[in-house]
Amino acid sequence: MSSIVAYHRPTSLDEAAELLTESNRSILAGGTAIVPEKRADHTGEVEMVDLQALGLDAITAVDGRVTLGAMVRLAEFSTDPRVGELLGDLARRELPSAMRNQATIGGTVATGSADSVLIAGLLVHDAQVEFHDGGSLPLDQVLAEGSGGTIIVAVNIDPTGAGAIMVTGRTPADEPIVAAVARSTTDGFRLALTGVASTVIEVDPSEPVSGLEPPSDFRGSSEYRLSVAAILSERAVKAVA
Ligand SMILES: Cc1cc2nc3c(=O)[nH]c(=O)nc-3n(C[C@H](O)[C@H](O)[C@H](O)COP(=O)(O)OP(=O)(O)OC[C@H]3O[C@@H](n4cnc5c(N)ncnc54)[C@H](O)[C@@H]3O)c2cc1C
Repeated sequence: MSSIVAYHRPTSLDEAAELLTESNRSILAGGTAIVPEKRADHTGEVEMVDLQALGLDAITAVDGRVTLGAMVRLAEFSTDPRVGELLGDLARRELPSAMRNQATIGGTVATGSADSVLIAGLLVHDAQVEFHDGGSLPLDQVLAEGSGGTIIVAVNIDPTGAGAIMVTGRTPADEPIVAAVARSTTDGFRLALTGVASTVIEVDPSEPVSGLEPPSDFRGSSEYRLSVAAILSERAVKAVA
C-alpha cells in the first residue's frame, strides 16, 4: 500500500502555503524524487500539494539576469537560449531524458543532490533562491540549511560569462564521481565542485581543494576524490580563461 493518501492542487500560492501548514503534507513538483520516496515509505500517511497550477513555470530575463520559475522543467530549461550554453548542457546531463520532462528547477534545488552538476552550474551563475514569503537566499545557504519546507517560487541567475565543465565518472553517461564547473566573470572566475562534500560547494579557484575532506564510497575514496578534484578544477578554470 502506498503511503500517499490525498492529492491537492491549489490555484494560488497562499492556498498552497495554507495547505502546507499541516505536517503530513509535502510539496509535489515533478514528482521524480518524492513520489518513489513516499511510495517506498509505508510508515505514515502523506498528502501531496501539487504546485503545477500556480503559474510558476515562466522564464523571464530582466536587467541582465534571468528568473527561472520553480516549476520550469529541466527539459525546457535545457534548450532556452536565455540561460546560456553551459547551464543548458548541465541540465541535459541530469536524469534520464524522459524524467527531465517532469523534473523541475525548484525540485532540483530543494533536493540538493551532492552530485548534481546543474546545481554546480547554478552556484557559479550566482543563483539566488526566491521564496513564497518574499524572501530570497543565496543558493549556497539553501544547500547548507535546506529550504525548511518553504515554497521555492523561483531561482534567479546571472547567465553571462563563459563556462566549462570537467568530469570523471565510471562511464561517460553515469553521474560524475567528481565534477568541476567553472565560469568566467568580470572579476575573475567562479568554481564549484560536486562529489567532494555533503552538498555541491563553491570553492576558491586559487585553492580549490583546500580544507576539503570528501566522503568515501564505492565509487571513490576520499583521497581519490580530492586528487581528481584538484586536476579537474585546474582544467575547468583553464578552459574558461
Ligand atoms: C532515477 C533517478 C535519477 C536521478 N538523477 C538525478 C540527477 O542526475 N541529479 C539530481 O540532482 N537529482 C537526481 N535525482 C533526484 C531528483 O529526481 C531530481 O533532483 C529532480 O530534479 C527533482 O525535481 P522534481 O521536480 O521531480 O522534484 P519532486 O520529486 O517533486 O520533489 C523533490 C523534493 O523537493 C521538494 N520540492 C519540490 N519543489 C519544491 C519547491 N518549489 N519548493 C520547495 N520544495 C520543493 C519536494 O517536496 C521534495 O521534497 C534522480 C532521481 C531518480 C529517481
